[in-house]
Amino acid sequence: MDELEWFRQAIIRAYPNPQRIGCPAPEILEGMARRTVPISAPDQEHIFHCSPCFSTYLGIRNQIRRRRVIRLTSIATAAALILASIVFIGYRALYRTPTPQFATAFNLQERPVFRGLHQAAIHPSPFVLPRGIVHLSLTLPLGSEPGAYQVQVCRDGQTDPLLSTSGQAVLGRDGSTVLAIDLNSAKLRSGKYALGVRKDDSEWSYSPLVLP
Ligand SMILES: [Zn+2]
Repeated sequence: MDELEWFRQAIIRAYPNPQRIGCPAPEILEGMARRTVPISAPDQEHIFHCSPCFSTYLGIRNQIRRRRVIRLTSIATAAALILASIVFIGYRALYRTPTPQFATAFNLQERPVFRGLHQAAIHPSPFVLPRGIVHLSLTLPLGSEPGAYQVQVCRDGQTDPLLSTSGQAVLGRDGSTVLAIDLNSAKLRSGKYALGVRKDDSEWSYSPLVLP
């Protein structure tokens, strides 16, 4: 029992007033506790010297105080949640990194080219594809003709390409055939892949590829 409770108990027992002499009507007493009815000096004097009135008065005051604490706690919780959301959104807007961009060249004359996906995917020295938007310059195998080419990136054992695009291969000054394409590898997982290239409707040929 804290001191306030001890004090309350003392007053409740001090002035029993079983005949309720001089007590205000219950609704008036409740109004006083709720501050809707003004408390005069004699009223206050009575409440402090009548245990039943004091007990009722104190009970209503405590009830009001508890409700106010609950309401304030709810408001504080809601405010904290809103603040946390604002901070989170602001943080994300400030620090969200754009997709990185790379310019890379693969020379398909330097690596073996395979007819099968699997052979390419297990080759020990693959091309390394950075993760992001890659502006890729492919030097096609010797003897490749210029024209429209299709390019795709496949996982070993999966025929559905994860990335696919197309472009026009042109003859370079040194006589090689070069195909410039853009690939977005940002969402690919690390691992072994195969880079498929084909002209028009001819057969696919695959080069070993890896994502770090
Ligand atoms: Zn009374």
